[in-house]
Amino acid sequence: MTSTTLTAPDLITAGKLEIKVTSIPRTRSMPKAAELGFGRIFTDHMFAMDYEEGRGWFDARIVPYGPIPMDPGASALHYGQAMFDGCKAFRARDGRILLFRNKRHAARMSEGAPRLGMTAPDAETIHAAMKALVDFERDWVPSEPGTSLYLRPTLIGTEGFLGVRAAKKYMFFVILSPVGAYYPDGMKPVKIWVEKDYIRAAKGGLGAVKAGANYAASLYAATAAQKRGYAQVLWLDALEHRYCEEVGVMNLFVQLKDEIVTAPLGGTILAGVTRDSVITLLRDWGYTVNERRYAFDEVVEARKNGTLGEVFGTGTAAVISPVGEFGFTEGSLKTSDGAIGPLAQRLYSTLTAIQYGEAPDVHGWTEEVTRVA
Ligand SMILES: *Cc1c(COP(=O)(O)O)cnc(C)c1O
Repeated sequence: MTSTTLTAPDLITAGKLEIKVTSIPRTRSMPKAAELGFGRIFTDHMFAMDYEEGRGWFDARIVPYGPIPMDPGASALHYGQAMFDGCKAFRARDGRILLFRNKRHAARMSEGAPRLGMTAPDAETIHAAMKALVDFERDWVPSEPGTSLYLRPTLIGTEGFLGVRAAKKYMFFVILSPVGAYYPDGMKPVKIWVEKDYIRAAKGGLGAVKAGANYAASLYAATAAQKRGYAQVLWLDALEHRYCEEVGVMNLFVQLKDEIVTAPLGGTILAGVTRDSVITLLRDWGYTVNERRYAFDEVVEARKNGTLGEVFGTGTAAVISPVGEFGFTEGSLKTSDGAIGPLAQRLYSTLTAIQYGEAPDVHGWTEEVTRVA
């Protein structure tokens, strides 16, 4: 494995960005796919950039990965001004590096920030920063089947000030983590706990934003569900605890009689990029997909009268995660006989084939990272 050596500091131009580079020689080699796991190993460098009110964004830089100096009064630490996104870069068999719908992730982040009172770089800048860093760290994109490079753009309030108001200083950074195959032994259905006591997001709240706070709100219930033997929780609506919203940190799809349903984007749902891709593919294939409210009772009813089809979650990490069973205080409901449904299988194969450049990309979802750095 070769390392990119540059005489530091150097400059990279990426769109509107002039990125100052301080690099270190690479000393670690890529772990084997089986040892990668998720989000445990980080690449040698990170991207960072700062913002101050009146000055705008400045000091775009690629620097060695490491701790960031932080004012103990920073708003991210006290008032939760913190958000992120997550997307991936894939190594095609011919060596090319492909980003998957990266611009959409950048736009979601940029558009979500104001809900937290935060100032984010514009979508083009976020996209350019991610792409430049992936290019710079291209040797860190793993090539074994099912592996990828996970991108984590993050935005935090950095102003040291304890008054409760939106911060006037922010930091945007991107870190990268080579990740292993989500399903090293093939897709497995998961057991999901139907959560009736705790909620993830209420109407008018932060549910549509990838805010760190949403994750903090979810961890207690998720841990309790795991103790009961469930992989994740099914989040119901905050008001009546009846309507299905999301499953863990994934969007949920349920195949009913002659339609496939998923919760509508009404402010409590995260607008998953995988959700959008799945809706697009299903409609391409002639399925009726309805973004509508549906009660968990409807799922139970469909199971009773034999009209329940497949149930699966969607998200960047797993792509498709089939749900095999729902558990709740009164009992449980098996959605299938434990086999992976043909629809989940087809969606998974199709999406991953597009991501690795092995299937035609008719929707223009992938973007090659050509070598600049
Ligand atoms: C990130 C996330 C998703 C999935 O979004 P993708 O863009 O498909 O990765 C779904 N729900 C929640 C709550 C999330 O945070």
